[in-house]
Amino acid sequence: MLNQTEIRQYVAPPNQLHGRVIAITGAGDGIGRALALAAARQGAQLVLIGRTVRRLESIHAEIAALGSAGGQAPEATIAPLDLEKALAGDYDQLAAAVLQRYGRLDGLVHNAALLGTIAPIEHADMLNWCRVLHVNLTAALALTQVLLPSLRASEDASVIFTTSSVGRRGRANWGAYAVSKFAVEGLNQVLADELSGNSLVRVNAVNPGATRTRMRRQAFPGEDAALLPEPASILGPYLWLLGPASRGVTGQSLDCQAPRPSPPPAAPA
Ligand code: NAP
Repeated sequence: MLNQTEIRQYVAPPNQLHGRVIAITGAGDGIGRALALAAARQGAQLVLIGRTVRRLESIHAEIAALGSAGGQAPEATIAPLDLEKALAGDYDQLAAAVLQRYGRLDGLVHNAALLGTIAPIEHADMLNWCRVLHVNLTAALALTQVLLPSLRASEDASVIFTTSSVGRRGRANWGAYAVSKFAVEGLNQVLADELSGNSLVRVNAVNPGATRTRMRRQAFPGEDAALLPEPASILGPYLWLLGPASRGVTGQSLDCQAPRPSPPPAAPA
């Protein structure tokens, strides 16, 4: 296995994801969008899962345009799913569509998340708490469950959860978001252990680190975003985990960026 620095700096060989079917949640914006585009460039067929259809249509068009550069157009399908509101039938429908269309799933990236209200635990709003825990944790579990038959049908399936530094060491005011990411780390470990030895499905988590996206702006409105890396520049660990070079790696929690000094606490709302 590569060391942490090599994984962070990983540059995928051309077409390394050729023929792989990869589903990404929150594919319409930020890190999910950049990852969908990068994976399509490497030959993957994408299932673009997300809440805002116009954003999914935009990334879908951008992926389709890759083909007009002369190569074969990468294939992508749009799967609208609001992880806050989706019911069991919506998950079942998506899973049935994936199985019917592709017969398997080689990658599942749980990227969508809700930041929610930044506030001390003492003042935690219960509705916000439930929404954040549901979108960031329970919905990822539900989606994994229904997609497991497709993942098991792959010869090398990779599930990626998205964690955060506040999901490894608690930090004041990050409330439900931080707790949800701690739970995602736990889900990653438990699922990886359960699936190792009896399946070809590997399960890992990735912490993108401070990245220039809408969520980061929401958390740190006063920060100079120009100092942060763009989503497209932090994708090494995602692309390594989705490709054949990481076959057999499971139960890890990786970082996209070298550790940096802790930022000042976000202002309580
Ligand atoms: P982002 O730009 O805000 O993107 C979040 C994505 O999640 C959006 O596409 C959003 O969809 C989707 N989403 C939110 N609620 C949803 C719901 N109910 N149903 C379906 N999709 C939903 O944020 P990002 O920074 O790229 O975040 C990506 C991941 O990285 C998250 O898991 C986040 O916790 C993690 N992360 C980010 C940073 C950072 O500095 N950016 C640091 C550590 C961890 P809409 O387009 O519909 O809003």
